[in-house]
Amino acid sequence: MKRLAILGSTGSVGEQALEVAAAFPERFAVTALAAGRRVEKLAEQVRRFRPGLVSVGDADGARALRAALGADAPPIEIGDAGLAAVATAEADLVLSALVGAVGLRPTLAAIRAGRDVALANKEVLVMAGALVLREVRAHGVRLLPVDSEHSAIFQALAGQRPEDLRRILLTASGGPFRSWSADEIARASVEQALAHPNWSMGPKISIDSATLMNKGLEVIEARWLFDVTPERIDVVVHPQSVVHSLVELIDGSVLAQLGVPDMRVPIAVALAWPERLPLLDAESMPRALPALDLAATGRLDFETPDRKRFPCLDLAFAALRGDEAAPAVLTAANEVAVARFLAREASFPSIAATNAAVLDAHFSRSGAGILRTLDDAQAADAWARARARETSSSGVAA
Ligand code: MG
Repeated sequence: MKRLAILGSTGSVGEQALEVAAAFPERFAVTALAAGRRVEKLAEQVRRFRPGLVSVGDADGARALRAALGADAPPIEIGDAGLAAVATAEADLVLSALVGAVGLRPTLAAIRAGRDVALANKEVLVMAGALVLREVRAHGVRLLPVDSEHSAIFQALAGQRPEDLRRILLTASGGPFRSWSADEIARASVEQALAHPNWSMGPKISIDSATLMNKGLEVIEARWLFDVTPERIDVVVHPQSVVHSLVELIDGSVLAQLGVPDMRVPIAVALAWPERLPLLDAESMPRALPALDLAATGRLDFETPDRKRFPCLDLAFAALRGDEAAPAVLTAANEVAVARFLAREASFPSIAATNAAVLDAHFSRSGAGILRTLDDAQAADAWARARARETSSSGVAA
């Protein structure tokens, strides 16, 4: 029986992880759940999975949860302390599935408590990859990627010697605007940007897929997960999202992992590793997982990403080649810019413009590029958020 603690249980990945856990009750027990504001959904999860500990965003949420659960309520914690409590609760594996910078401290707390971590929250490695990997090694824990691309690379590299890896090829669907002109992209609405062609995901990551910022963040994530320099990471657009990524070995062999685009697969790989779950034949899965039908898929296309129409991809490479703090700056600016777009306060191109302006401003600061501690990462994050808010939606500093 593997005991799971989940940070971000009411988000898209958290819910799908619980769906997988529920389908295999003889293999998984859920010991702790942390959510933010979705109290009703959390109450349902508590009734179903009976965790020994839960956490919600604030005291109002805790009151509402206690009222909903009555005498059945487990201990309820709140805020940052609650996230830390869930991260270090009795568990064999902590699923880190919060969205954004808020996940960094609890994920590090889980690592320091000796827990293996299934990582869906990519900002953890984007903000502080070197620091996090140092802690992973110091505490001898395993970091299992949940992101579909990194799960594919992780699976393709299983059994390979690290020195035999030559290059990583990250696939990108290209998002909803892959075939749109720059003019059309400039007028894109929130609904159009949210309409991802292949994947069902939360709003923040859907927008990041439309700008290709998501792929940029994944390049940074891959740099740390697989210990490769940016020169050895390439991005290839693959609109069908069937090949989830590839690795090129030194003898010219290229290994890929394929499958239908369904996040339950990479989630299950991380939850069950090193074993596999029979997802295709699980009668207890409420939504059946279809097998990949290659003949029905027909063709697999690949193309070079257009770095002009999607400038966020190069911003990520620039940040990675820049200094240690630059990726944290970029992702923080991006969170502000995406929130502004989702609130309909700024245009779609303003996301890239804001990110570029904040990254440029960071590179002209002196002495702000080194990350010694988590506080340095948090300071870079706070500076970038403030700077992004001061930057007008056209990317011009106010
Ligand atoms: Mg991904």
